Amino acid sequence: MLADSDRIFTNLYGFQPWGIDAAMQRGDWVETKALMAMGQDAIIDAIKASGLRGRGGAGFPTGMKWSFMPKEPKPGRPSFLVINADESEPGSCKDREIIRHDPHKLVEGALIAGYAMRARAAYIYIRGEYIREAETLFAAVAQAYEKGFLGLNACGSGYDFDVFVHRGAGAYICGEETAMLESLEGKKGQPRLKPPFPAGAGLYGCPTTVNNVESIAVGPTILRRGAEWFASFGRPNNLGTKLFQISGHVNRPCVVEEAMSISFRDLIETHCGGIRGGWDNLLAVIPGGSSVPLVPAHEIADAPMDFDGLKELKSGLGTAAVIVMDKSTDIVRAIARLSYFYKHESCGQCTPCREGTGWMWRVMQRLVTGDAEPHEIDLLLEVTTQVEGHTICALGDAAAWPIQGLIRHFRPEIEKRIAKRQGFVAVPHTAMAAE
Ligand code: SF4
Repeated sequence: MLADSDRIFTNLYGFQPWGIDAAMQRGDWVETKALMAMGQDAIIDAIKASGLRGRGGAGFPTGMKWSFMPKEPKPGRPSFLVINADESEPGSCKDREIIRHDPHKLVEGALIAGYAMRARAAYIYIRGEYIREAETLFAAVAQAYEKGFLGLNACGSGYDFDVFVHRGAGAYICGEETAMLESLEGKKGQPRLKPPFPAGAGLYGCPTTVNNVESIAVGPTILRRGAEWFASFGRPNNLGTKLFQISGHVNRPCVVEEAMSISFRDLIETHCGGIRGGWDNLLAVIPGGSSVPLVPAHEIADAPMDFDGLKELKSGLGTAAVIVMDKSTDIVRAIARLSYFYKHESCGQCTPCREGTGWMWRVMQRLVTGDAEPHEIDLLLEVTTQVEGHTICALGDAAAWPIQGLIRHFRPEIEKRIAKRQGFVAVPHTAMAAE
């Protein structure tokens, strides 16, 4: 179990005030000028050495991402940092805890990261439904300006840096980095074709890096405590501490900071009071937010919760939003509900996603009741592979993978429902109502 002294987010549960004075007592905004005096390249090197990988799902090395930004921004073409606080993936709820209770970790992190990548300003794009969180964030940024930590000569460093908070309007797709840039520019939030990548032409056509809230918020602590300290947690290539968000059929759902690579069993036993009804009652787990394939109980029980461990199980760490399902779950219906979500959130730009997500959802609905032909299982699987990898953004993949995971691990359950239906035997599951 991670020692309290090794936690980065020391006010995750809001036991202390979130404001700047309390934050400074917790160590935020202390000697920030000295951190900046390390120099921009030294900061990037330290983040690289820490092994920090992006906490928004993709797991790209954060220091390397920062290093893609121009070393000398051209006049009239500033660089920008965009912070993704559009947390909308079903199961994910960690960034809101940071913003609610520890917002100065994020605001200070924005300054440090923005300075390191030679950005002129940071835009924090916050999910529209996060109303109270947005209020806290606006107030935290205002406090930092009042103290002289942001704006001209930020923290007395001689560097000018602004932070803007921008509220979204509730579209999941605006969490995709290029759709977020479109939305920030005041356009319809639709993903852009890449290349060009944001580091070359991002916000307003200027060099831009998009990072997740947690990736930015951990930066100052890594610099203060040292890259070696952060890299002492987890397995090689999966280093550091991480916020896990455990929901579903555990005794005590929670958001908790733990060392990367902790086993699923330890995570659940230590922080969640075990599986509801005991470990024999565990059916399956979606370990990284709704877009990653589920993993059945016997495979995940002792698996390390990190990028490589879950990839070996043909799933992913994603945002570490761990959705636990016990044997009371109608697993086919659960995945069908996710199919509906992705159908609903498709922006409609590309045909495989626009048509495929709706088609997959309609077939999934029939599989819930068994009202299908056996060959349709393979047909559905085939369609998921036609959607996956053939779209502008990863929403197509996100719609395909949960279905693939279901068929990979629970095909007999689907076949049983079809057989029952064809034999006109009553099916115990209720049809999923059109939503
Ligand atoms: Fe839009 Fe879907 Fe294409 Fe992404 S994959 S750009 S959400 S239609």
